[in-house]
Amino acid sequence: MNESAKEGYVKYTAEHTPAAAVAAGVPGWKELDEGRTGLYDLGLVGALPNGVGFGNTSVRMNNGEFLISGTATGGRRALGPDGYCVVSAFDIEKNRVSSRGPVKASAESMSHGAVYLACPSALSVIHIHSRKIFDAMLRDGYPRTPADAPYGTPEMARAIIACVKEQGRSRGLIVMAGHDEGVIAYGESVKEALDLVLGLCHKYN
Ligand SMILES: [Zn+2]
Repeated sequence: MNESAKEGYVKYTAEHTPAAAVAAGVPGWKELDEGRTGLYDLGLVGALPNGVGFGNTSVRMNNGEFLISGTATGGRRALGPDGYCVVSAFDIEKNRVSSRGPVKASAESMSHGAVYLACPSALSVIHIHSRKIFDAMLRDGYPRTPADAPYGTPEMARAIIACVKEQGRSRGLIVMAGHDEGVIAYGESVKEALDLVLGLCHKYN
């Protein structure tokens, strides 16, 4: 990494307040959680052999907050309410996320927040990892974030906002060229976001 890139790098910080699970009372959560288990079975969310998790699912709440699967939950097949936290606020320029719940929010929460910010009608965001789908989407010219915008940075969040606004629709797919194997789907409902991911599976698997 060169000096200017280093200077431009804003470290991700999280402000987390431990709190009881609220997921069960959030509309759409149950469908999201069941859908996440299906994605786990397809290998699209999970954990690497070293234990590092990948992929996460979120649903917008009715007060400007959103509920997201927590960091370090990737290895669990079924999460249930305890696997989710509420992101109450985020600041893209400061790369800071405030959350509360039984698990912490991952740095990828910022990518979900960016979609919700850019698209007021988006209700659910799903982030998966897949070598096959990622490579195919790049090849086939899907909307993408730049290769020099790495995971968990304000650059990535800004690139997602630009991508979502450019598409100008309440549903869409984005391939994160600077985040290897990373793909984002969003839609007006949990089902719509899940169906977009499953559509990619059928198309490319
Ligand atoms: Zn990722």
